[in-house]
Amino acid sequence: MQAKPSAAAARRGEGYAAFHRLLLAWYNRYGRKDLPWRNTRDAYAIYLSEVMLQQTQVKTVLERFYVPFLTRFPSLRALAEAPQDEVLSAWQGLGYYSRALNLHKAAKASAAGLPADVEALRALPGVGKNTAHAVAAFAFHQPVAVMEANVRRVLCRIFAISKPVEADLWEKAAALLDASHPFDYNQAMMDVGATVCTKRAPACAICPAQAICRGKDAPELYPAAKMAKKVPVRRETIWVLRNEAGEFYAAARASRFLGGLYQFAQSDAEATGLRVGKHHFARAHGKTLGVVRQQYSHFTLEADVMLLEAGKAGGKDWYGPRALLGLPMSMAEKKVMGLLGLSGGGGDG
Ligand code: SF4
Repeated sequence: MQAKPSAAAARRGEGYAAFHRLLLAWYNRYGRKDLPWRNTRDAYAIYLSEVMLQQTQVKTVLERFYVPFLTRFPSLRALAEAPQDEVLSAWQGLGYYSRALNLHKAAKASAAGLPADVEALRALPGVGKNTAHAVAAFAFHQPVAVMEANVRRVLCRIFAISKPVEADLWEKAAALLDASHPFDYNQAMMDVGATVCTKRAPACAICPAQAICRGKDAPELYPAAKMAKKVPVRRETIWVLRNEAGEFYAAARASRFLGGLYQFAQSDAEATGLRVGKHHFARAHGKTLGVVRQQYSHFTLEADVMLLEAGKAGGKDWYGPRALLGLPMSMAEKKVMGLLGLSGGGGDG
């Protein structure tokens, strides 16, 4: 059911009535209306799509992850009741695993149903302002503006802002909103950003925002390009410990980064030995399997992979090849498995 916009919200969009009409007409004709999360009233399915789309492209989410995840966990309750390892396994390949952990926690906190209110949505783990607004607008038709990366660029250009300040941009987003059609308006703005006002080749001649756009004479200036940050390289050693029963050592990470995913033993690159439980392993007894490289958002991992025979070591945290393949693991570990000949992955050297 569509929420009625407040008088204040409706007033904010005044002055843009002609733009709203053009935008809706454009959306009716060119909008990507076949996306599955635009054709459901299930707030959980919409919320899931928003979380997946936070750091992953539409094409990837659509082709490989959205439907399988929903099939495995068809409701918020089903997700809430699933073990964490299963949720992480279903998320494998999407990266940014804290999203899956937060999604799981949020499902546990609201298994009976998601709240419609923006502030209540924002109180859920991992839900920032944009995700809260997107769920409120798309699942509950609340009159709030969405501002993901594409919309952000469109707003910077419409208002000719080269160095955007977050709070100001949110105000602009609210001022421009068509409060009577929050679903179509927000979807349309995202589509304009993704298909017309693209980063490198904005097609101003066919843009529904052309009449109000102050940046159209030099769109490349808005927003100003940021200096690319140099990503540091982190050098480590991954120790693949194999006991005489053919089991491998792997433990779930307790850290925030990749938390919950299983990893082989790891140390800094220079370590000459490693202790696991009561056993000590020396690098000198290891066999080099290769090098694994993995790019993360804030660093690049470059790890030598060593295989060590662990004799009688075993017990908890030791897995046979089959069980190992069933554990949720990050891409770096998958590559190590490739070096071991246990999966389709592979090292870089
Ligand atoms: S007129 Fe051009 S710069 Fe302005 S929003 Fe449209 S495509 Fe972007």
